[in-house]
Amino acid sequence: VSGPPATADVVVIGAGICGAACAGALAARGASAVVVEKEAGPAVEQSGRAQGAIRVQGRAAAELPLAVEALRIWREVAGEAEFEFRVGGNLYVCTTPDEVAMASRLVSETHASGLAEVQLLGPEEAREVLPAARGDLLAAMWSPGDAQCDPSSATRTFVERARRAGARFVYDTLALEVVERGGSVAGVTTSRGMVATRAVVVAGGVWTSYLAKTVGVSVPAMPLVVSECETRPVSTVIGPCLRAFRFGARQRPDGRVVLSAGMDTVVDHHLSWASVRHLRLWAPRLLHHRRAVRLGVDWETLAREIRQRAVASPRLIPSGRELPPNRPLVGRAREAIAEVIPALRGAAIARYWAGVIDLSPDGLPIIEAASGPAGLVLVTGLSGHGLALGPVIGEITADLALGRRPGLPIEPFRLDRFRGPTPIPEKMI
Ligand SMILES: Cc1cc2nc3c(=O)[nH]c(=O)nc-3n(C[C@H](O)[C@H](O)[C@H](O)COP(=O)(O)OP(=O)(O)OC[C@H]3O[C@@H](n4cnc5c(N)ncnc54)[C@H](O)[C@@H]3O)c2cc1C
Repeated sequence: VSGPPATADVVVIGAGICGAACAGALAARGASAVVVEKEAGPAVEQSGRAQGAIRVQGRAAAELPLAVEALRIWREVAGEAEFEFRVGGNLYVCTTPDEVAMASRLVSETHASGLAEVQLLGPEEAREVLPAARGDLLAAMWSPGDAQCDPSSATRTFVERARRAGARFVYDTLALEVVERGGSVAGVTTSRGMVATRAVVVAGGVWTSYLAKTVGVSVPAMPLVVSECETRPVSTVIGPCLRAFRFGARQRPDGRVVLSAGMDTVVDHHLSWASVRHLRLWAPRLLHHRRAVRLGVDWETLAREIRQRAVASPRLIPSGRELPPNRPLVGRAREAIAEVIPALRGAAIARYWAGVIDLSPDGLPIIEAASGPAGLVLVTGLSGHGLALGPVIGEITADLALGRRPGLPIEPFRLDRFRGPTPIPEKMI
């Protein structure tokens, strides 16, 4: 297997949805792009582990223009290629008055942003969308145009598109350092040699902050472990993607139900030296959401940090790492969904898995091109809902890497927002 080329117009680090979409957008703009990925193929980290909700509704106002454009691209790509994708809508299921209050507020905010199609449904209308629902379904927030996909085959579809457009993907290759010369990017050092380039897009998910540190840029994204499970196939009971306080779910075409713990989830953080880097930013949020975070110790990373006398260095980035999912937590989501959809009671769980998300302090993406050497573009902080945004983030980062102005507003995603007080989002993810 050949290593990376000696030169490229742009080096993209990471073959997740953002890196794959960025490579495609670069190739479409006539630039030579090489994607460097440490794993043996694409979509091994977050982009292969997501639930697969492609959701516009329920987002912060700053994200809405991106989510709307991303959904348009998803639909366009799905019209041209075969992968598990469906426009089935997204339904926020409310079973208590508090939940109804939150959904009403979200609907008003969405309408204020000009998105009229998101609606608050009463119990009868909600049951029309989800006929299998029984029990206390008080209301639901409904976005009929939202979609869902299998994240792994979707990401591979974006890789294939990029490849056909001329981008090159190099696997089993760890990016180690962004090389700077005279205030500009000069190249990327990898485990298989150096690539000379004037621009680099670091789309490394939870590891973006490690690469940023090699050129002195501090990125406060926090890794958190999120768990999912999947049932054996059951008869079709769920059309839309469901999001609720105690569960999140979608049903695949063959009947398997993908389940997570929903908005009241508990996430795991495994402590190492790297955890204390941005404590000033994180302490208020961790305190506020203390019931939603379970702390443990990442002994493996801690030992490597001590052995190599390094913190948050790309040399410490693991490959092929599997973290244990929180089985009791996602198992309880099965009980919770069965209270709304009794047909799912007792559905056997065939598979559990975990993925590590890159949470930002305010829950908004981090898209940065104004820190560090000229030609450096960083993306991370997608905070557990970035699969949906990936296609548009690819377009934006491609424009930034080529020195062009992106077509959508990205000021809310700049790093310098963390200099001031950081608002704490209502939910952990
Ligand atoms: C369990 C779970 C459920 C989720 N559910 C949803 C959902 O339903 N909807 C939604 O929109 N989002 C969801 N998300 C979030 C979504 O998956 C992510 O926001 C999105 O996939 C991030 O894409 P990415 O390309 O930025 O990062 P990743 O997919 O993490 O890709 C980064 C890539 O960079 C590579 N890399 C990192 N460092 C290096 C290096 N130094 N050298 C070479 N390669 C490197 C990694 O191996 C990886 O392949 C979920 C996430 C998880 C974990």
